[in-house]
Amino acid sequence: MFELTFLGTSAAAPSVHRSLSAQIVDYQDQRFLIDCGEGTQRQILQAGIGFRRLHKILITHGHLDHILGLAGLLSTFSRWEAVERLEIWAGDYAMERIRDLLYGVVLRGAQPPMQLELHIVEPGTLLEDDDFRLSAFPVKHRGPSCYGYLFEELPRRPFLVAKAAELQLPEGPIRGQLVQGQAVTLEDGRRIEPEDVLGEPRSGARLVHVGDCGQTENLIEVCQNADGLVIEATYLEFEADLAQRFAHLTAAQAARLAAWLPLSTTHWRGR
Ligand SMILES: [Zn+2]
Repeated sequence: MFELTFLGTSAAAPSVHRSLSAQIVDYQDQRFLIDCGEGTQRQILQAGIGFRRLHKILITHGHLDHILGLAGLLSTFSRWEAVERLEIWAGDYAMERIRDLLYGVVLRGAQPPMQLELHIVEPGTLLEDDDFRLSAFPVKHRGPSCYGYLFEELPRRPFLVAKAAELQLPEGPIRGQLVQGQAVTLEDGRRIEPEDVLGEPRSGARLVHVGDCGQTENLIEVCQNADGLVIEATYLEFEADLAQRFAHLTAAQAARLAAWLPLSTTHWRGR
């Protein structure tokens, strides 16, 4: 299950009611900030999220309305020492600008206030553990190295409680061992195989995040079987020529892509 918090959804410049691009994705104990437009740190405070778990920032592309907030965030961290480690993930063009912004403007020779890791994004898997995978895929927008992000819970086999009761399987860590695929031997000498208590594999939740974007045709494959899609829409249909000229989507184009998705099972918390 993924939890989304929209910190900002405005394009190019903030409006009275909306801040610039920034969203939080929470999955278990992992937190990801996607894009960091100007003013993101104030939005984080307003959302009551706090900075302490903010270790991973994913950038969709290098336009200034998606990255300028990184400067303020790093400046604040220099005073508060709120985090020990910060990873920023971005395509090579975006990272060039981010490096200039952070090292050329904010730090200017000073050491970062935390272990600062800059990771260049390329298509494919970025992070993976036993039950979660984060990967990047190319998105067509203005400029090079624009990326979308796919958050996936990996397929898992459910523990069949009724079967366990039938086998008089005791409570406790042996159940965890079986879930991890290890056979166990009970005190009465019976050997229980994972197959005895695990059901058929079930696919996990999939959340697709796309930032600024000018075309949806190349996104259909990654969006199939997604439970949730976050995607921009900057123009209305009567402005379709503007949308095309600036490589953005109309609301109708974004909605047509979303219509490919099955009903969402993702829990939403919008702001
Ligand atoms: Zn852009």
